[in-house]
Amino acid sequence: MKNIYGMTLEQLEDYFLAHNEKKFKATQVYEWLYKKRVTSFSEMTNIKKETLAYMKQDFSMQSIQILTQKEGIDVIKFLFVLEDHNKVEAVLMKHDYGNSLCVSTEVGCNMGCSFCESGRLKKVRHLETYEMVLQILEIEKQFHIRISHVVLMGIGEPFDNYENVIQFISIINNGKGIDIGARHITVSTCGIIPKIEAFIEDGKQVNLAISLHAPNNMLRSQLMPINKIYPIDKLIPILKKYIQRTNRRVTFEYILLEHVNDTEACALELAELLKGMNCYVNLIPYNETSHVEFKKSSKETIMRFLDILKKNKINVTIRKEFGGNVDAACGQLRSNYEEA
Ligand code: SAH
Repeated sequence: MKNIYGMTLEQLEDYFLAHNEKKFKATQVYEWLYKKRVTSFSEMTNIKKETLAYMKQDFSMQSIQILTQKEGIDVIKFLFVLEDHNKVEAVLMKHDYGNSLCVSTEVGCNMGCSFCESGRLKKVRHLETYEMVLQILEIEKQFHIRISHVVLMGIGEPFDNYENVIQFISIINNGKGIDIGARHITVSTCGIIPKIEAFIEDGKQVNLAISLHAPNNMLRSQLMPINKIYPIDKLIPILKKYIQRTNRRVTFEYILLEHVNDTEACALELAELLKGMNCYVNLIPYNETSHVEFKKSSKETIMRFLDILKKNKINVTIRKEFGGNVDAACGQLRSNYEEA
């Protein structure tokens, strides 16, 4: 049995056509699910009983449960438990422009970035599409809020779960459903090149962010093993192609780690690497975790790094810090929960 929250509108249309019904049934069902937010088939009062009967046989509406939550200033962090008892996190951030939700895409992660807590648990499985959709729905339900922005920056590597992630984007972006604008959705990847190429072909108008974290192969390979397979000199040309084809700007995420990648030399090398690209750099103050040796760069170092990029005409911002006190670094809530 499939979970109905994993179905795109087009798939539901095909489903109804195959049952000799009008395509429009799918729109009606989408309205029940995403506009009226019913939680059972019997509440779908404009759908015939016979139709509901076979829908009930084919689809589940089972949700995912919030196991714990931790609240900080403008941030709430959630631990979800899935049907098979695996756990993933989501983080709700209150910005002045709206509520943004950081969703997980996998249980654990195999990318092995040395500074990241998520990878402490190796990938157990990918998330099904519906498990991503339900992270949004459950939080909206519990807090009676509307989530306006979604970032795929929780546990997991989105492009390691490419098909489901693309399907998830189609569902939440659909105007007849949750209707989150493409420009309000950001996919963050450590740089899996073949999937970036697929993403270019796919033509989704969502934002693309690249976890760069180092300006050269030597340093980046130390921090991010994926760089040995997809090194910077291969990554940058693909991103240039992305920019050219989509006319969109790429975001580079750069965590500042004290004495590791935060030196003046690194800043200059980064500016040189990105010179002339339609991009912007998001400097991320490192969220220190209890396990890892890395330290956060000082305020002065962060400002110096920012200045060097600015002087070299690179668009750059510093990411607002959320949730230092709520274990909000990727994977932290889960790993601290397991240990407690
Ligand atoms: N796998 C994807 C998305 C998940 S990580 C990716 O690599 O982009 C989302 C972002 O959070 C990445 O840029 C990641 O490097 C960063 N991140 C991981 N641990 C962090 C920490 N402790 N403090 C700050 N940012 C962190």
